[in-house]
Amino acid sequence: MEKVVIIGTGCAGLTAALYTARANLNPLVLTGVSPGGLLTTTSIVENFPGFPEGIDGTELMMRMQKQAERFGARIKFGTVDAVDFSKKPHVLTVDGEPVEAETIIIASGAGHRHLGLDSEAKLERKGVTYCATCDGAFPMFRNQPLVVVGGGDSACEEATYLTRFGSVVYLIHRRDSLRASQIMAERTLNNPKIKPIWDSVVTEVLDVAQDKVTGVRVKNIKTCEETLIDCAGLFVAIGHVPNTQIFAGKIDMDENGYITRKGGSETNVPGVFVAGDCSDHVYRQAITAAGMGCAAAIDAERYLASLNQ
Ligand code: NAP
Repeated sequence: MEKVVIIGTGCAGLTAALYTARANLNPLVLTGVSPGGLLTTTSIVENFPGFPEGIDGTELMMRMQKQAERFGARIKFGTVDAVDFSKKPHVLTVDGEPVEAETIIIASGAGHRHLGLDSEAKLERKGVTYCATCDGAFPMFRNQPLVVVGGGDSACEEATYLTRFGSVVYLIHRRDSLRASQIMAERTLNNPKIKPIWDSVVTEVLDVAQDKVTGVRVKNIKTCEETLIDCAGLFVAIGHVPNTQIFAGKIDMDENGYITRKGGSETNVPGVFVAGDCSDHVYRQAITAAGMGCAAAIDAERYLASLNQ
């Protein structure tokens, strides 16, 4: 039986791995389908303390993994198919095999929310992207019209960032006012290179036949009028979806699927702790995820100590 199983190898999971490994708990760390987590889709990370020149996202995650392994963390490529928290020890099904664990730290992260269009899926990485900071500087986007979808802080941040590269940035939002914080909204709307398109949704990404983005079909949801906008890139910034589907019904979550924390990193299931983006829709930063991973490791360690008293 495992003392600690950590689900996820993003900032939260690998920090939890480091701390539990240093506490001699010999953690088993499961990568899931995206080893290294969301940060591996970023180029330079400039806001992780300790790297004044910035650091490549993938390199940062490889370093975190190495550091955890140095103290005995066992990283295993594996996906959790199912969980049973109804008995002790808890049982995970990992690629079809049962794994028993005294404590579990869920650090399964979050993914980008998609529009859900067929054409969007077909043109992903061919002009459709979910991260302006990762992809905005690609030559295909330089001096071209670009489209951002969304009305939150992320969409505003992405649109503003993209004005460095695009000739014009259309910001398409399904309502007539931004959800973003006032300062971000003002900065965005005052930028002469950003053209808001209100009350509108993208209904199709063009052009699947050419295998690259050449434009978007946009529908005004109030007038039902459809227009075509030429663009070389579609940047979707409509929020995130926590990777918590396999825990549905097994652990308390909010209505958006974020796992709820009772205090610190505790969940409603004794011995199951949570850290990072799968339980945080507010901060969603590498450093806050790492901090939560540390907290979860300490909570798991104390929980195990309390069992042996
Ligand atoms: P968000 O605040 O949830 O905004 C998502 C936006 O996408 C909303 O405007 C929403 O429209 C729109 N949307 C959602 N589903 C859609 C769909 N299917 N089709 C079209 N539009 C859709 O997400 P976020 O912008 O990623 O921000 C998440 C959190 O991170 C927030 O707390 C934010 O403050 C924070 N954040 C902060 C910063 C910063 O301070 N620098 C930067 C980025 C993010 P509606 O408005 O109609 O719901």
